[in-house]
Amino acid sequence: MKKRYGIDLDGVCFDFTNSFRQWLNDKLSIDIGQEEVTSYYWYEGRDDLSKKEFFEEFDKFGIEGHGYRHLDVLPGTKDALQKIVDAGHDIYYITNRPLYARQDTIDCLEEHEFPFRENLHFAKGAKGPLIKKFAVDVFIDDSPRTLVEVTVDTRATIYCRNYPFNSHIDDTWLTRVDSWDEFIKAEGLNG
Ligand SMILES: [Mg+2]
Repeated sequence: MKKRYGIDLDGVCFDFTNSFRQWLNDKLSIDIGQEEVTSYYWYEGRDDLSKKEFFEEFDKFGIEGHGYRHLDVLPGTKDALQKIVDAGHDIYYITNRPLYARQDTIDCLEEHEFPFRENLHFAKGAKGPLIKKFAVDVFIDDSPRTLVEVTVDTRATIYCRNYPFNSHIDDTWLTRVDSWDEFIKAEGLNG
C-alpha cells in the first residue's frame, strides 16, 4: 500500500540544534554545551540566557544569518528518504520554521537534492491540520509540543525522534526512535 510520510525538518533531517547553539555561544559569549540542551526552550533553567535574548537571536539566526540555508544534514537522512521513495511512497515535509526561512529552506533542500522537495509545507504553528489535509499515514517529529498537538486529531502512525527535551512526554501513543535506522526498521523499509 502506498503511504504518505510526513517528515519534520529540524531535529529529524537537519541539525538545527548544533548550528543555533554555536550561533548563541558566539553572539552572546556564553557556552551552551550540546548535552545542556535538555529543554525545547533552552533559556529555561539558565542564568546566562533570557527568553527575550533567545527569541531575538532565533530570528537573527534565521534572517540575518541565513541559518536555515546551511544546517548539517543529520546522519542517515538521505538514505532513509531514498528508502521511502524506493518503496513507492510519497513524502511531505512539514515544518514549523518561520516563514522568513522559506527561500533558504527551498535552496537547502535543492542543494541536498531531497526527494519530493517540492512537497514542502509551512505549518505556521499547528501541524495537525496539514496531516489531516494531506491524509498523512506516518509522521515523524521531535518537538514535544507538536507531538502532543498532532495526536489529538489524526489517525497517522506517530514517531518521536528521541531527544532529552522530549523524553518527558507521554509516549503510549507514539513510537520512539533514536535514529533513521530504527525508523526504517520499524516501518519495514529495509528492502
Ligand atoms: Mg523538529
